Amino acid sequence: MPDQYAVIGNPVAHSKSPQIHAEFARQTGQELTYERLLAPTDHFKATVETFIARGGLGVNVTLPFKGEAFDLATRLSERARAAQAVNTLKFEGNTIFGDNTDGAGLVNDLAHNLGRAIAGQRVLLLGAGGAARGVIKPLLEQQPAYLTLANRTPGKARDLAQSLDGRVEFVSYAALTGMQFDIVINATSASLTGALPPLPPGVFAHGALAYDMMYGMRETPFLAFARSDGAAALADGLGMLVEQAAESFLIWRGLRPDTALVLKRLRQAIA
Ligand code: NDP
Repeated sequence: MPDQYAVIGNPVAHSKSPQIHAEFARQTGQELTYERLLAPTDHFKATVETFIARGGLGVNVTLPFKGEAFDLATRLSERARAAQAVNTLKFEGNTIFGDNTDGAGLVNDLAHNLGRAIAGQRVLLLGAGGAARGVIKPLLEQQPAYLTLANRTPGKARDLAQSLDGRVEFVSYAALTGMQFDIVINATSASLTGALPPLPPGVFAHGALAYDMMYGMRETPFLAFARSDGAAALADGLGMLVEQAAESFLIWRGLRPDTALVLKRLRQAIA
């Protein structure tokens, strides 16, 4: 019986993780299975327990369960604790280890796939949900000139910024008028509904990169806005998806797969 892994979410049918991990397994010669598990919204824990009972060794966790996965873990990585969200669980005896690989995924995508150093850059992060929380610490570790956070519901972002001891500045969308950034990251779910975060024009500095964590759409409203507002480079979140998966694979299997070919194939498949 091969080692068993899965992605748990609701919905989960759209997830590309089984495809990505199957490619990683082939490439590294690992014998494993990786399936999609649809958990009823009030049965995340039970779904995980059933999977463990039938021999499962680890799961990726996606919407809306990253907070519940954080609560379920009996041991946490530092980055998961900082994010208060878990996207990777590893089952070891009675221990449930929780980690968050989203931030490493974003940083690796920026650095290796997009050739974009974060050090010294003025970075604007939009959103204060699970995805934004997951990437703040890894972004700060790259030593940007500064990291600014904007969110539709100001209180949520203000609380988040305060919890980070002043290392992140919170501003309202309106207060972004007149400010410029080298990297603008959309970590909101606005693109999912075809919406655009209320960004004022002029936030993209000369040579700026606009990055939307959303993937699978030809061009999101955010990327279309960025293009018309003068951003020099546009990127979606497909690279982040593949890179966070590679980091999960490393946690489970102790091996880092090569992401370039997998990303190229996925990109072709959604073109
Ligand atoms: P959450 O539901 O936790 O947070 C959503 C955030 O989006 C909140 O800050 C919310 O603001 C904001 N928001 C929603 N609609 C709008 C809008 N119309 N205008 C402005 N802000 C808005 O979601 P996640 O953080 O988990 O996910 C966010 C996105 O990141 C999703 O699209 C997800 O698919 C993507 N993602 C991609 C990954 C990848 O590997 N590429 C990995 C993880 C996530 P408010 O607080 O005001 O409600």
